Amino acid sequence: MSDITFQSHTPGYWPDADQDDWDNHVWQLKNRVTSLEGLEKHLNLTEEERAGVLLSGNKLAMSITPHFFNLIDPDDPTCPVRRQVIPRIEETLTDPAEMSDPCGEDSHMPVPGLVHRYPDRVLFLVTDRCASYCRYCTRSRVVSGVSEQKLETQWEAAFEYLEKTPEVRDVLISGGDALLFSDARLERLLKRLHAIPHIQFVRIGSRIPIFLPQRITPALCDMLKKYHPLFISIHANHPKELTSEVRDGLGRLADAGIVMGNQSVLLNGVNDSVEDQKDLVHKLLMCRVRPYYLYQCDLIEGSAHLRTSIQKGIDIIEGLRGHTSGYAIPQYVIDGPGGGGKIPVNPDYVVKHDDGGITLRNYEGKKFHYPAVSTSPIDVK
Ligand SMILES: *Cc1c(COP(=O)(O)O)cnc(C)c1O
Ligand code: SF4
Repeated sequence: MSDITFQSHTPGYWPDADQDDWDNHVWQLKNRVTSLEGLEKHLNLTEEERAGVLLSGNKLAMSITPHFFNLIDPDDPTCPVRRQVIPRIEETLTDPAEMSDPCGEDSHMPVPGLVHRYPDRVLFLVTDRCASYCRYCTRSRVVSGVSEQKLETQWEAAFEYLEKTPEVRDVLISGGDALLFSDARLERLLKRLHAIPHIQFVRIGSRIPIFLPQRITPALCDMLKKYHPLFISIHANHPKELTSEVRDGLGRLADAGIVMGNQSVLLNGVNDSVEDQKDLVHKLLMCRVRPYYLYQCDLIEGSAHLRTSIQKGIDIIEGLRGHTSGYAIPQYVIDGPGGGGKIPVNPDYVVKHDDGGITLRNYEGKKFHYPAVSTSPIDVK
C-alpha cells in the first residue's frame, strides 16, 4: 500500500516536550535514547532486541534521536525503522565472510583518516560521531567510539596531502557525520578545502537531515552556501523517514543551492520491496533529492540478518526502470569486498549481442533488435 504523504510524528513518545525544545537540535542530542532502560520506557522489546542491546555495546553504541525514535511503531516488532537502530542478538554472530573493514579502507589511507582509492577523489573521515547509529554501519570499527579501534584523523597531514596531490578534484567529507560539528568548525574545514585550487567540489555524506532535521538551521544553510559547488549525499532507507520536518530541512538545503543525492542501503526487512523503494524514490524527488546509490549491504560483522540476496537488488531496479521516471532510479552497487570500490550491478537487458547487432528486451519484456553498424562502405552518390 503506497503512502507518499509527509507526516510529522511529533510529539509521539515525548508528549511533555516543549515545542521549542523539540525543534532545537541540542535538545534532541541531549535526549537521545542510549540505554536499555530508555528503550523500555517506550517500547516492549523482543527477546532478540533485549539481548542485542545488552551484548552489542562494545561493537557499536546505540543512540537514537527523539525525532527518529518517534518513527518507531510501538506495536510492530518488524517496523522498518526499528531494525535500523535497535540492536538485535544476531549482531553478535559473525559469518566467516564478514569483515571489520569490508571496504578495505584502512589499507587505502595515505594519511590516517584520508581514504584515496579512486584516482581523482578522496574520502575524508573527519569525525567518528553520528546523531544516531545504524546497526549495519560499514565503518562500525571506528564509528561511535566504543570499539577498540579509534579514528585518528591527522588533520594537518591530510590537508598537506590534498594540497600536494593535484589529481584530487573531489573531496567527500564523511565519518561519522560532519554536520554534527558546530557551524564555525564546519566552516573552518570547508574554507580550508575551498582554498585548494585543484579541488573542484566538495560533498558531505550525512544522515543528519534524516536523524536530526532540526540541525538544518537557516544559519547552517547561510554558511554552507558560501562554499559552492557543494553537494550533500543524504541517507534515507524507507519512505517513512521522509517526514514533514525532514522535507522542510531538505527544502532549506535545496533553497541554499546545495545539490543533493540519496544513498540507501538495501536491508532485509527494512526496504527490500519494490513498493517501498518506489515510495522512497518518489518522496525523495519531491524533496529535490535525486536517488544516487542503492548499496548492497557490506559484509560488516554481525550484519547477516540485515543482508538480502543480490537478486533482490536486481529485482528492485528492474521494478523501477521503465515503470517510473529515470530521475527516480538509483544505481545499485556492490562495494567490492576487501577494497574493490563501488561496482554497478544491473538487470540484464541484453538478450543477444553479436556481429549482427544487439537484441534487447525492454521493461515490459518485449524484444527489439538494433543492427550492427555496416562495415561495408556506404555509397553516397
Ligand atoms: C564511495 C567512495 C567515494 C565516492 O565515490 P563516487 O562513486 O564518486 O560517489 C570515494 N572514495 C571512497 C573510498 C569511497 O568509498
Ligand atoms: S549515519 Fe552513516 S556513518 Fe553514521 S552510523 Fe549510520 S551509516 Fe554509519
